[in-house]
Amino acid sequence: MNYLEINHIKKSFGDLEVLKDISLTVKKGEVLAIIGPSGSGKSTLLRCATLLETMDGGDLSYLGEKAVSMDASGRSVYAKPAELREIRKKFGLVFQNFNLFPHYSVIKNVTDPLIHVQKKSKEEAYRIGRELLKKMGLSDKEDYYPCQLSGGQQQRVSIARALALNPQVLFFDEPTSALDPELTGEILKVIRDLAAEHMTMVIVTHEMNFAKNVANHVVFMEKGLIVEEGTPEEVFHSDNRRMQEFLGKYN
Ligand code: ADP
Ligand code: MG
Repeated sequence: MNYLEINHIKKSFGDLEVLKDISLTVKKGEVLAIIGPSGSGKSTLLRCATLLETMDGGDLSYLGEKAVSMDASGRSVYAKPAELREIRKKFGLVFQNFNLFPHYSVIKNVTDPLIHVQKKSKEEAYRIGRELLKKMGLSDKEDYYPCQLSGGQQQRVSIARALALNPQVLFFDEPTSALDPELTGEILKVIRDLAAEHMTMVIVTHEMNFAKNVANHVVFMEKGLIVEEGTPEEVFHSDNRRMQEFLGKYN
């Protein structure tokens, strides 16, 4: 079954057509890397896919459940709020800038959604939270505040927070781009470990080696369109001129 399926997504901001006609599917256990120049619409695509942004046209479903369907003219029609609330439980999102609550301790950042969204008991939430912090190598940091952590540690807290809700698909929007190069590796290792556990993930990244080595599906976007798509071998060895120009900037 497709964990995520999007068909013919269109999105404009005023006169600016940011997503022109994007379709893609993500299968269970797949790691999809989305690459492409700045401004090509990658973040907008992720925001539409995670229902943070409303799309104008196209449809969207998670595990066969329609969050957005299309009317006869292709316009997007959103499911009812109660259905969308259920669908939102199926995915998590990790942002570029960590998005932690600065006035919450590490453990509170991780457990807060478990207690307030999932209505788990404090004991159960702390058990899950501590397990995830251990997995992220942060057991000794649970009482720290985000400002007392390195960027890499903060990003690992935000990954723990996303994992706490047990998502079926995890999205990352340039998870390492706010980090110093020496901290990038620790985040890429966490994502690599999740891939080894067959976590289904969609990752917007500028880390070409990572996309090559960890993803099993790569999409190259430019100006709101998918220009190349396939396995890493297919995409990175494509003779598409735009693709090669883009890759040239990384060599
Ligand atoms: P990428 O993530 O690939 O760099 P984005 O999806 O962030 O690209 O942006 C694509 C285009 O959409 C850019 O031209 C950007 O300025 C524009 N854009 C993104 N979000 C908004 C918004 N909320 N309002 C107006 N324009 C936006
Ligand atoms: Mg972006």
